[in-house]
Amino acid sequence: MLQVEIHDDAVDELMAIGRFAAHRDWVPATSGNFSRRLDAHHIAITRSGADKGALGPDDFLVVRLDGPLPLGVSAETPLHVARYRNEPSIGAVVHIHSLAATVLSRVLADRGAIELEGFEMHKALSGFTTHESNVRLPIFPNAQDTEQLARTVEAAIAGSGVPGYLLAGHGLYAWGTTMDQARRHVEGLEFLLRCSLEERRLS
Ligand SMILES: [Zn+2]
Repeated sequence: MLQVEIHDDAVDELMAIGRFAAHRDWVPATSGNFSRRLDAHHIAITRSGADKGALGPDDFLVVRLDGPLPLGVSAETPLHVARYRNEPSIGAVVHIHSLAATVLSRVLADRGAIELEGFEMHKALSGFTTHESNVRLPIFPNAQDTEQLARTVEAAIAGSGVPGYLLAGHGLYAWGTTMDQARRHVEGLEFLLRCSLEERRLS
């Protein structure tokens, strides 16, 4: 079988999202991971333990969506693979461990979701055209068995319309048809989470 190469555009996009996230302190201590679709059957994903703010061309691995995981990929790779398998339109998945995502997902874990209403920033999310909308961002209990966690998540979010979810005490997953759209979604959701956190501090 031919080895699928990670082409330069994919490497550039993945390194750029790493710098973008690290600059905002969303991926401390080598946390977080980023992936991008290469073709219908393969993605490129960050290797485990890489500093996401200083990713180089050797920090990515090719994963076949219907094959065994290669050595050295992030333990969270099954969560990425499940997204690409279940939504063929997805071109990129971005996962961050930001402070707002970590704190709010812990505090609100028992509710199973965070409800966001009335923010102009809703319009950063594909399919949302007005602030007069309700963005329900699901929260799932964190787990180290990420194969099982991926099955739980995918069963719950099918058709949700919101391009992201939270893992309690852990972080935020977001995705898009392209890396640009995934970046807009993660940035929009992160902004909404920061707003919600600030509102809770003030109330
Ligand atoms: Zn994580």
